[in-house]
Parts: sequence; structure tokens; C-alpha cells
Amino acid sequence: MDMKTDKKKLGLKEKYKLLTRDLGWETTYHTADEVFPYVKYEGIKVHDWGKWEDPFRLTMDAYWKYQAEKERKYYAIIDAHAQNNGHLHITDARYLSALKLFVQAISPGEYAAGKGFARLGREFPGVGPRVACQMQAIDEIRHAQTQIHAMSNYNKFYNGFHAFADARDRMWYCSLPRSFFDDALSAGPFEFMIAIGFSFEYVLTNLLFVPFMSGAAYNGDMATVTFGFSAQSDEARHMTLGLECIKFMLEQDPDNLPIVQRWIDKWFWRGFRILGVVGTMMDYMLPKRVMSWREAFEIYGAGNGGALFNDLARYGVRLPLEWNDAVKALDHMTHQLNLGLYQWSFGTAFHTGIPSDEDMAWLSKKYPDTFDKYYRPRWEHIKKLKEAGTPFVNTGLAKLCQVCQIPTPYTEPDDPTALCLRESEYKGELYHFCSDGCQRIFHDEPEKYIQAVLPMPQLFQPPLGGDIGAWMNWVGLKNGVDNGDYDGSEDQKNFAAWRATATSNQ
Ligand code: FE
Ligand code: ZN
Repeated sequence: MDMKTDKKKLGLKEKYKLLTRDLGWETTYHTADEVFPYVKYEGIKVHDWGKWEDPFRLTMDAYWKYQAEKERKYYAIIDAHAQNNGHLHITDARYLSALKLFVQAISPGEYAAGKGFARLGREFPGVGPRVACQMQAIDEIRHAQTQIHAMSNYNKFYNGFHAFADARDRMWYCSLPRSFFDDALSAGPFEFMIAIGFSFEYVLTNLLFVPFMSGAAYNGDMATVTFGFSAQSDEARHMTLGLECIKFMLEQDPDNLPIVQRWIDKWFWRGFRILGVVGTMMDYMLPKRVMSWREAFEIYGAGNGGALFNDLARYGVRLPLEWNDAVKALDHMTHQLNLGLYQWSFGTAFHTGIPSDEDMAWLSKKYPDTFDKYYRPRWEHIKKLKEAGTPFVNTGLAKLCQVCQIPTPYTEPDDPTALCLRESEYKGELYHFCSDGCQRIFHDEPEKYIQAVLPMPQLFQPPLGGDIGAWMNWVGLKNGVDNGDYDGSEDQKNFAAWRATATSNQ
């Protein structure tokens, strides 16, 4: 017998309420403070968690349905890519350096974000943010997985992919993003939200996924385009969650503003430092380029970021302290970082190379004020050294920034011919920094940053004891195979040979 019901179907709003807000309860046999011990110590005052507006009224059942659909599409394309020899359809195997850097340095960050959001899903008392954080935790794990799966096909044919997990923990250039995520994961829940929800999602992923994924499309990399689209469709939700959290803090109590502003200052600069890697991939690693890093920053950084800060101005939020330093760095950062990667390329699990004449013409067109003046002469010099059989290698160990952990390759904001170095003494020890921003961040929380594990000093710890060969084993780097110039590498030779068999009767 059919049961008569009052209503055939729940309305979306009602269903959402039952499946999210109504899942919460008031604590009885423990106090709320005991159950949520981390939510107060950062100093953020929240008077009413019920005021949290959920930007996406997404319930768990709808979430699984959407994500499952995306997974089906994603794996269908990945499968087709593998079966159609997708690894031969890229413009050139030198493109893969960008992907190697991505899987070593960025994908583990997705996983770290997943861990962090799982923690936030437990630590926030409000039901609205808890559900949203739980969904984002699952998203981030999925991003790490889809990225690793997409790249596993390249790993069958090319070098440098195999030890990405060791690289994440031990490689010097990976410590830039690793330290970013370690810093965020060891912060309180609200700061984590600004670090990831604002800095990583808002400042970084727009620049990472949109221009970088179109770079992948331009270079015939179907696998990366597919994970990019699959992840990017989650990003709108993630960015909104971060922004919602910022607005919520600012609306709950005026005392929250200085704390939030300090985090925005800090995480903008930490995010901008990671963008150096992303920009270098765009300017130097793509055989076929979509737009320069500078152009991407103008659209996604200055354009979208500027609009965001206009929106936040009504709460009293101003632009991040180092915004102007960032703008001044735009025409220099990628050139300086790429010169660093080239001279230390015996220690990179990807290939670098001297830009071709055609590349240099493009760079001077995109950076008319700086490339020909400061950077072309250096590449011409490096080219001559290589032709003379004495390629330029820097075996000196770089000074590392105690905060962002890069080997201080950048110049003064107002003088592109002087290296930017800062020093501070703290409790009798001397610490180095790459910039005013990183030095300021250090002085806000010195006890946190003096504990940082830095890759260069690690080289001299047991069991490595300064032995470069032992270090290479330790980071999973195969010398003469994974590292050095693309020119003459196994990747280059294999790609040329395989392409020849695919396009001729050889
Ligand atoms: Fe993600
Ligand atoms: Zn730094």
C-alpha cells in the first residue's frame, strides 16, 4: 500500500538544513571549550557561529554525485591518453620539466591541504564551516590523487617523476612550498583558513590552474588539462569558503581586524614566493607559451586580487604590506629564479636549459624593460661557457631564507643589480632572509621559525655528512639521468626516437 506523505520532496533549503545545520548539537557532559580546544587561542572572537553563511548550499549526497561524475570523466580521458600514446603528443619532452616540478612541489601541497581541512572539520565549532571543510578535505585528497595518476603515465616513459614523494620532503626547491604548508598546518584553525583558503586558493590557484593548464593544453598534454579542469571546478567553492571565513571573522568582532590583517600580510608574501616557481614554469619551461607570468599576474593577481581587496576595504582591510614589493618583482622574479635553477641543475630532478634565440626574442618582447638589459647578457655569457666546454655550474651552497626557504636568488626591490639579503640575530643565532617580508614574518613568530628544517644544513647532518652522492640517493635523484641540461638528456633522445617511429616508417 502506498503511504501518503505530506510533501513529495523536500525543498533544497529544507534538505540542506536537515543535512548540515541540524547535524550539530550542544555539548552536555563536556564543555564546548573542552571539545573545541583550538578555536580561541589565536585571539579570534566569534559570538555567533549561526551567522556563518554557507556560500554553496551543497549537501553530502549532492557532493558525492557531482564528484563521482567528474571522476568518471577524468578517468575515461586518462585511460584514452594512455592508450593513445599521449606521452608522444606533447610539443616537446622539455615541457615535462614543468610537470615534474608540479608533481614534486605542488601536488603534495594538495595532500597537505587535505590533511589541514580534515583537521578544521573537527576543530571549528560551527556546523556550516565544518561541513564545508570536510568537503574541501576530500577535494584536496582527490586533487593530489588525480594529479599523481595523470602523471604516472609519463613516469613510465620519462625520468624525474619517480621519486616525487622523497623530493617533496628533501629537495631544496620543494622546501619552498613544503615550508608553506608546514607553516599553515602548524598554525591555528583560523590562520590555516587564511593560509589555504585565501593565499593558496585565491592568490595561487587562479595563477596556477588557469594559465598553467592552458599552457598544458597548448603543449598537447591532455592528462594535465583533465586534472586541471577537474580541480578547477572545485576551486570556486574553495575560494568562496576562504573569503567567507575572512568576512565572518571581520563581521563577528572589530577586534579581529588586526589579527586578520597580519595573516593577510603574511600569507600574501608566502604565497607570492611560491608564485616564483609557477611563473618560472610559465616563462621558461613551456615550449609553447600562452602568456607571460607578468601578463598572468596582471589579469589574475592585480586584476582579481585588486577587486578582492576593494571588496574587503569596507571592513577596514588594506592591501598586503608587501604588495608594492611584489609588483616591483614582476619583471625580474622568473628570470632570477630560472638562472638559479640552471646553475644548480645538478641538484634538480628535472631538466633545465639555456633559452633558445627564439625563446629569448619572446622574453624580450614580454619583458621589454628588463630582459635585454639584465638577463640576456647573462644567458649569452652562459651560452659561451657551454660552447667552450666549461658549462657554468654553481657548486657553492646558497644562503637560505629562514622563512620561505629559497636560496635567496632575488634582488633588492629598487635595485635589480644587488642581491636582497636580510639578517637578524635572535637568541645569539644569526638568521638569513630573502626579503623584508620574510624578515617581518620571522619577527612575528621567531620561536616557530627557528625550528625550521632547512635543506642546506641537512646536507651536513649524518648520514650525509656533506657527500653529494649520498645526498642524491637520499632525495631519489639519479645523477646524469634526472638532472642537468635537457639538451643531450635521455628524455630528449627518447622523445626524438619515439616520435620518429610514430611519424615515419623507421
Ligand atoms: Fe586543490
Ligand atoms: Zn624568504
